[in-house]
Amino acid sequence: MAHYSLVIEGRDFGTFDTPAEYRHGQLYPPSGYAWFCPQCGEVWARAAVEGRPFTVWTRRCIACPGLRYEFAGSIILDWEREFNEALPRAVKEREMALHLAWAEQEKEAA
Ligand SMILES: [Zn+2]
Repeated sequence: MAHYSLVIEGRDFGTFDTPAEYRHGQLYPPSGYAWFCPQCGEVWARAAVEGRPFTVWTRRCIACPGLRYEFAGSIILDWEREFNEALPRAVKEREMALHLAWAEQEKEAA
């Protein structure tokens, strides 16, 4: 099991747990995640696991929107279903708001 403490843009979103991760029949120790913005250079979100190093994902922060199909400010990891599902409700609501804003922008651009 991984126990994460989540902070996004300085806001504390509390903690959540994901199941133990097995690959090739081996139990792997969890890693924390950090989201780095390549535009402004900020680490704008951290899902920390006490005593463990971070894996760093490069994604623009909400203040630096860029590519049309990139969800700036989103912490969703398409390849980590269990992580996404375990996120606290407030984070899922934040993600929904980001995606709705993106959809509205797309509608205006059409
Ligand atoms: Zn940025």
